[in-house]
Amino acid sequence: MKLHNFNAGPSALPAEVIDQAAQALHNFNNSGLSLLEIGHRTPLFVPVMEEARQLVRELMQLDADHEVLLLHGGATLQFLQVPMNLLDQGAVASYTETGTWSQKAIKEAALLGKVSLAGSGEENNFTAIPSPLYIDPQSAYLHITTNETIAGTQWHTIPYNSGCPLVADMSSDILSRSLDFNRFDLIYAGAQKNMGAAGVCLVVVNKKCLGKVTRTIPSFLDYRLHIKEGSMLNTPPVFAVYVLLLTLRWLKAKGGVHAIEKINTQKATLLYSTLESIPLFRLPIQKKDRSMMNAVFLLDDPMLQKEFIDAATAEGLVGIEGHRSVGGCRVSLYNAIPLSSVEILVDFIKEFARKKS
Ligand SMILES: *Cc1c(COP(=O)(O)O)cnc(C)c1O
Repeated sequence: MKLHNFNAGPSALPAEVIDQAAQALHNFNNSGLSLLEIGHRTPLFVPVMEEARQLVRELMQLDADHEVLLLHGGATLQFLQVPMNLLDQGAVASYTETGTWSQKAIKEAALLGKVSLAGSGEENNFTAIPSPLYIDPQSAYLHITTNETIAGTQWHTIPYNSGCPLVADMSSDILSRSLDFNRFDLIYAGAQKNMGAAGVCLVVVNKKCLGKVTRTIPSFLDYRLHIKEGSMLNTPPVFAVYVLLLTLRWLKAKGGVHAIEKINTQKATLLYSTLESIPLFRLPIQKKDRSMMNAVFLLDDPMLQKEFIDAATAEGLVGIEGHRSVGGCRVSLYNAIPLSSVEILVDFIKEFARKKS
């Protein structure tokens, strides 16, 4: 049976990416060696790193001030590395609290400086993006989580004009929609939601915002050293970098960010409009803040909800159970999910509702 994979992360990758990655494990570029067995500074691997970074630059249309880094440690290390480089001891940064992931970012930043809450969705249980924002004018930067993967919310209006540098965790919507990426001072995103395999994290940083803090930054956490070494300060996660490269090539061949955004919009519109039209399903997120990447919904009867998830799984529609912390259902609609999979899911949803009414 063909499976339709709606997992939240790690999540679906294009079939051709998986095939090419498998091939590279056996015989990389006809070298007779596995990708896993070659030096990262060899003429075989160096072009992989260079092309991956170049494709990010191209797909995001970055200007010369913005540097592209592929680092270890996931988005979680960035929760710490960002304030380590941008927030001085005793200085203040503004954070928006929109759910689990932004809360983790706030916790780490508070270890290194002062955090001012620019807005919080806590009182409405993170079902809406806070607005308006109240930003401390002294802020070193404003941090947002452009897509809250667990809550199922997304910033559809980016606060570009807040008056302070903008930093974003884009782990779960990177390269899914056109944004003015050059207007961010720093963007980070773990690869495993929308861009590739776990183990590599993309960081895009405007080099003009570096070198302003007074603390001594440990070498491995200093973006300037990673820039200087071309993202090869130490052994990079070679396999994850290669899968990232394959996924970026796939995205470019699809027409890039603008083209994939159109498909992503179709997918999300189809799913949400179907769920809205059936009383059995409840959509807890405020309509204007719904995520195009992670659709969160529930059935009021927990027994029926379990039946729904089990029946979907039996039909090959996998990964739709909500995050363990919030329950309900969550369908992730990342770039690699084709519209046809969403059409099949929607047919299943309608048929389930028909049988139960
Ligand atoms: C998954 C996720 C993270 C954590 O990423 P890791 O690479 O596992 O550290 C952080 N932020 C958001 C928005 C995520 O979706």
